[in-house]
Amino acid sequence: MDTLVLNGAECEPYITADHRMMLEKPDEIIEGAKIILKILGISECHIGIESNKPDAIEVMTRAAAEDGSSIKVQPLQVKYPQGSEKQLIQAVTGRKVPSMALPASVGVVVQNVNTAKAIHDAVVYGKPLYEKVVTISGKGIGRPANLQVKVGTRVSDIVDYLGGLQPGLSKVIMGGPMMGFAVSSLNVPVTKTTSAILFLADDEVDTNPHSQCIRCGWCLDACPMGLEPKEIGIYVEAGRGEDTEPFGVFDCFECGSCAYVCPAKRPLVQFIRMAKMKARK
Ligand code: SF4
Ligand code: SF4
Repeated sequence: MDTLVLNGAECEPYITADHRMMLEKPDEIIEGAKIILKILGISECHIGIESNKPDAIEVMTRAAAEDGSSIKVQPLQVKYPQGSEKQLIQAVTGRKVPSMALPASVGVVVQNVNTAKAIHDAVVYGKPLYEKVVTISGKGIGRPANLQVKVGTRVSDIVDYLGGLQPGLSKVIMGGPMMGFAVSSLNVPVTKTTSAILFLADDEVDTNPHSQCIRCGWCLDACPMGLEPKEIGIYVEAGRGEDTEPFGVFDCFECGSCAYVCPAKRPLVQFIRMAKMKARK
């Protein structure tokens, strides 16, 4: 490995936790990056940040310059899913990670800016990862915010702290609108991997039922991995999820772009998750 890429792209709508972290803790992120570089025995590090966060680009560039390190900040085009590992590596280094391979196969390690901050805290303060910055957003919550919460905090306690639920709440999602999971109860905890909790109102979600695939091909155009989500969906509906490997089901990182563009509102990511389960079995 020769390059560390820090992910500050934060491309999914609504989520701003990494953005706030870069604005408020730039020195800790740079220090965390230097610790990772030392562990890996390399010196090349790029921090990828989407160009819709000019303040974060400025703050991180200044922090790297003041530190005197060789760490470079790289503004990235605003597009989804810019922050996914393989897309980020290509945007930052120009290298393409082959199908089913890990970033290490092209000499790259990717870490999130928040992880760099957590590594700083662990090494410098001896602090384990027992709290997280989580974006709480959507029209269904009284006061949207980025909160630093303890891992294990109940979602219902966060709701109480932020002024309660608002009329018209339609869906609660753990994670972003593209990659998150809907939950049916507020009695669930924040975990180490929770980046956001969204409280979406009626006008923020589409509850229309899905229909048959009309073979428009939009999902193929939208897929950043060049997969065939429509075929996977059709196979799953036919009870043949285990036969979807030729369509690239295991290369899918569940970005949700295919489902977002589908005019038939087909739940393609859910189909893909089901196909993965069946194929693995
Ligand atoms: S976008 Fe939807 S309707 Fe169009 S081909 Fe893909 S799955 Fe079928
Ligand atoms: S979720 Fe859809 S668009 Fe995203 S990688 Fe998987 S198949 Fe492709």
